Amino acid sequence: MFRRRSTRRGAAPPEPPRHLVELRRVVKDYVTDAGPFRALRGVSLDVDPGEFIAVVGKSGCGKSTLMNMLTGIDRPTDGEVWVAGSDIRHMGEGRMAEWRGRTVGVIFQFFQLLPTLTVVENVMLPMDFAGLWSPRERLDRAMALLEQVDMADQAHKLPLSTSGGQQQRVAIARALANDPPIIVADEPTGNLDSATAESIFELFHGLVDGGKTVIMVSHDHDLAARTRRIVHMVDGQVLDGALAAPGLEPAPGLEPAPGLEPAPGLPPVPTPAHT
Ligand code: ADP
Ligand code: MG
Repeated sequence: MFRRRSTRRGAAPPEPPRHLVELRRVVKDYVTDAGPFRALRGVSLDVDPGEFIAVVGKSGCGKSTLMNMLTGIDRPTDGEVWVAGSDIRHMGEGRMAEWRGRTVGVIFQFFQLLPTLTVVENVMLPMDFAGLWSPRERLDRAMALLEQVDMADQAHKLPLSTSGGQQQRVAIARALANDPPIIVADEPTGNLDSATAESIFELFHGLVDGGKTVIMVSHDHDLAARTRRIVHMVDGQVLDGALAAPGLEPAPGLEPAPGLEPAPGLPPVPTPAHT
């Protein structure tokens, strides 16, 4: 019997990615006591190198779930997740950990530093895991990163003896340890006062200026509005990927603003005469 190709799911090899990050119709179901819960409902998103993206949306709309897809911390139920040329859905755990260590730096709301290691040891840890650089170079590199986030003078303290803002600076240095191209941050300023949040946000801006791609969940709309692009999430879906900054091209598929080119084949709208 003749069957249409599209009905044989998974038969055709996937298209290679054209963006640094490509999510294709990503679905994520959680198993709960009340039955399956669909946290992501077919999310597609493209991210190019050097972008600075804020992901915004109400609590529970799926922002952290989306971040966990990008970092390989969790796996999609369906759909494709392409990051830096790899389809990470089918990677084994060992390879995933190695891949993550070199490709994405992850920053969380509650810093998640290891409390029994000093600040500089925390920053060296990803290098130790990835086996990058010699032990001596790791120390030098960690100190240089702490310098970059203005924490070198606290290098030998334990994290909990520093402030929240300082711990987040250390977490940023740790995320940069293996020089990953992508930084993913889940509400990195959510636990900080506004002045400290501002200084952390400035650090992210500096990373983008230095060539990193930053994807940041934020519930702070003022900070989000100052990134180059805002992605709105509602109920497990990306509502739009509208560009926030003026002077950039609108995303393909968005309506042109009224008063621009008439659609081909349509007569121009007459300008009302002033009386
Ligand atoms: P956000 O980060 O936008 O606040 P999350 O991605 O954390 O949202 O959660 C999205 C939805 O999925 C929420 O309704 C949440 O309760 C649910 N959820 C998240 N993680 C799990 C889990 N491990 N098991 C079951 N439900 C979950
Ligand atoms: Mg969250």
